Amino acid sequence: MNEPIKSRREFLATVGVAGAASVLVGSSEARRGFAAEGQQKLAIDGGTPVRKTLLSSSPYGPQFYDEVEKREILEVIESRKPFRWWKGGSKVLQFEEAYAAHIGVKYALGVTSGTTALSAALAALEIGPGDEVILPAWTWYADYDTVVLAGALPVFAEIDSSLNIDPEDIEARITPRTKAIIAVSLQGCPADMGPILEIARKHKLRVLEDFSQCVGGRYEGKYLGSMGDIGISSFQQSKTITAGEGGAVVTNDPMLFERAVRAHDVGALRSPYREGLGGGQLPGFAASNFRMNEFTGAILKAQEQDLETICKAVRSNARKVRDGIAGLPGLRMRKTPDLEGDLGVTVFLDHGTRQRRDRFLRALRAEGISASSPGGSVILPIDERVENKVTVHPDWPSFNTPQGRAIRYGRECCPKTIDIQGRLGGVIMDPNFTNDDVADIVRAIRKVYLAMGAA
Ligand SMILES: *Cc1c(COP(=O)(O)O)cnc(C)c1O
Repeated sequence: MNEPIKSRREFLATVGVAGAASVLVGSSEARRGFAAEGQQKLAIDGGTPVRKTLLSSSPYGPQFYDEVEKREILEVIESRKPFRWWKGGSKVLQFEEAYAAHIGVKYALGVTSGTTALSAALAALEIGPGDEVILPAWTWYADYDTVVLAGALPVFAEIDSSLNIDPEDIEARITPRTKAIIAVSLQGCPADMGPILEIARKHKLRVLEDFSQCVGGRYEGKYLGSMGDIGISSFQQSKTITAGEGGAVVTNDPMLFERAVRAHDVGALRSPYREGLGGGQLPGFAASNFRMNEFTGAILKAQEQDLETICKAVRSNARKVRDGIAGLPGLRMRKTPDLEGDLGVTVFLDHGTRQRRDRFLRALRAEGISASSPGGSVILPIDERVENKVTVHPDWPSFNTPQGRAIRYGRECCPKTIDIQGRLGGVIMDPNFTNDDVADIVRAIRKVYLAMGAA
């Protein structure tokens, strides 16, 4: 099924057989229908589009704002207590307890963003000058920036066709100075935690899970964030649940939690954490302020109750689309290590080449279906300020060690990532797509895919 098909006629002939085998159960009418689908004139060539108006997804969380969010935020206003550590009782604390229970970890800490959550987690892991941290070449700036801001050296590994770090490319990047791996779960797809944890155990490395783009996702039945030494998530608007901005650190380890708490609150360990951690084991240290306010806590407490509803709806819509296009000849989908735990944020096809991907996306948009290449991340090694190792001060420790001076970013360090990011693309799903919307997505993908034929 994955062999290249030479001509369009040959392709359509194959469609009947291969399609019938896996989808249409082999009747000759079905075969004719399948081939006929591929002969419809595409909207991009002047044919009738599947939809008249463009179907596209919106940020998930705000679609679920309702009476609960209103009540929670009103309570903060009426209490005149916007700061968590004033006068007892705290929405932030209630959110933290609910989130920790949901993810299945002992501790959760609310902070101002995913980026500050990363800084707190790196501080918890005691990562600093001289240390190296392995992260995927395709991810959000924050994973790189916070490592640099900690004074440590970011080392990139390639991604695979899941768009997440390729476990097979990690070991080659390990040196005696490597201290941690950031396992990022991108665009709804869980990172392949099994092999990542195994490599980390073997080389005595720490694992920091960044599940900002996969909040509510699971891997082999466990929630993301519960498997590494420490995990972080963002609640910025484009994530599963949101208060516009916000973040959290999660862990089962009391020492890591104490350090994260101190890192987020001027080195202090306030009540109730002090009591919860037996008075604390560590002295204070120089730290910043990443504290979450009560308004954010109130919204996130309410959103946390919507988390499973949102995840179920997105997953279910993605499954319907996947089922509707399964059996298309030669079809290759974005890889996932766990289809059950995957959030289904994307239904991405692997189009083989960038040229073909771009043509597919243009044709799909013309049919009235918003279509995109992988987004929400950056190929960091080829980003100008990364490639040039630009920092706020010329003597910044990250790039002034022998390793930091020697390291070369740029295209040479991630050719596979550049290729894969350029090949994949498709539709971003939405929890509130209707059955008709989903049927339109299926019709449009089939129509374009079949009409485009072989590359
Ligand atoms: C959004 C995001 C972050 C940063 O979160 P902010 O809340 O925007 O600071 C970190 N990592 C990943 C993978 C993200 O998608």
